[in-house]
Amino acid sequence: MPKRPDLQRLWDDVGVKRVLEGLLDSAEGVDKARILSVSEPESGAWLHALPSPHLGTLLDSDSTRIAVALRLGCAVCEPHICICGTMVESNGHHALSCCRCAGRFPRHHALNDIVRRALVSANVPCVLEPPGLCRSDGKRPDGLTLVPWERGRCLVWDATCVSTFATSHIGRTARVARAAAELAAARKREKYAILANYLFIPIAVETTGCWCAEARVFFGEVGRRLRERGLDPRSGTFLMQSA
Ligand SMILES: [Zn+2]
Repeated sequence: MPKRPDLQRLWDDVGVKRVLEGLLDSAEGVDKARILSVSEPESGAWLHALPSPHLGTLLDSDSTRIAVALRLGCAVCEPHICICGTMVESNGHHALSCCRCAGRFPRHHALNDIVRRALVSANVPCVLEPPGLCRSDGKRPDGLTLVPWERGRCLVWDATCVSTFATSHIGRTARVARAAAELAAARKREKYAILANYLFIPIAVETTGCWCAEARVFFGEVGRRLRERGLDPRSGTFLMQSA
């Protein structure tokens, strides 16, 4: 019996939990990765967002259809050959990891824009692609705060969006939720070890909407600072919904 039998939601949770366990027991491979991933709280946050074109939270019909279909495992498109020569199945997963797919750059840009705008709102000035800073492969980080973020160190961040369903990730993501994001975060940390004077935060998110642990802590802290400035107490939630 739920701890608070007067709350209907807690009764629903019991049934939902049982259904989820049944789905996970019967699923494997791509389907198991999908169910594990979309069960994470941040993965479904967008469903509660206020649809606003000004805030960037208004999804057009096609984006909504694809977002829902990917989470439910429904067909997204007719099978066809991608411009890279690979067969695209009806689940559309190939487009999420194809190096020739145009969607990768807008996703990356949108993520950085959300981080930059949230930091500015929290009164933390920052710049994107700061000149003069290089990671081990010579590329610039995505962003840098111009004032210290924690323990006297400025924050350097690098965002990446990886596919939960990529062939190289599916072995991990079908076992543990967020595994692709955590792997991407670890790779970023290696590249940024050279910038030891800065606090580095990898912002790795998966195409199904879940984030690496450091990104979750970071967004939580940004939300706390937004609330501290007297902004809406739901600022942290709004930030989660946008990302
Ligand atoms: Zn392709």
